[in-house]
Amino acid sequence: MSDATLPAWIAKAAILAGTVAMIVIRAPHGRRSRSVTVARSHKSPLERLLLVLAWVGFFVPLLWVVSPAFSFAEYPLRTVPLVAGLACLAIGLWLLFRSHADLGTNWSVSLELRQEHRLITQGVYRAIRHPMYSALALYAVGQALVIPNWVAGFSNVIAFAVLLALRLGAEETMMAEQFGDEYAAYSARTKRLVPGLW
Ligand code: SAH
Repeated sequence: MSDATLPAWIAKAAILAGTVAMIVIRAPHGRRSRSVTVARSHKSPLERLLLVLAWVGFFVPLLWVVSPAFSFAEYPLRTVPLVAGLACLAIGLWLLFRSHADLGTNWSVSLELRQEHRLITQGVYRAIRHPMYSALALYAVGQALVIPNWVAGFSNVIAFAVLLALRLGAEETMMAEQFGDEYAAYSARTKRLVPGLW
């Protein structure tokens, strides 16, 4: 593959297309979940802060697409990171689509349990407990590889790493309290984010 510098509009088009795909995947599930009453909310002040951080991580790449705000942090776009990044974005979006389909109306953007919440252990939840977070992590890595800008490229990776570090434990505690032995058995036979590894 050539090591030539590519025009930044290719990366901008990819980021826009990825964002549209993410919204198209999420929107119907958001609407469906909101129609099911929240039975127990674990939305702490920290959790609210993490949601704000996630939104910032989501918007900074879009700001890069439409404005010169981060032009001081630009570097040349090369073929190898672009292709690797596009692959991460595509796999991340596929896994996001699958995990939304499997989780159904049990999904919340925050730590909440809905009425008649069921523990999902099938589909992409068979091998890992947090496929949606794996999907969003892959997507964030994809953005970092595709966007030739130190600020916009890494904003989502940093925001999502903080979110994961501070939320994963709280989410597992909430699920363990709600589902008891069923969640303990599920945890014993699965990994968190990477099948067979962690
Ligand atoms: N951590 C999961 C889900 C993210 S959405 C993943 O990455 O795939 C967050 C909400 O999903 C939590 O508030 C919780 O209510 C719900 N949840 C998490 N794991 C679940 C499971 N295995 N079955 C059903 N609901 C789950």
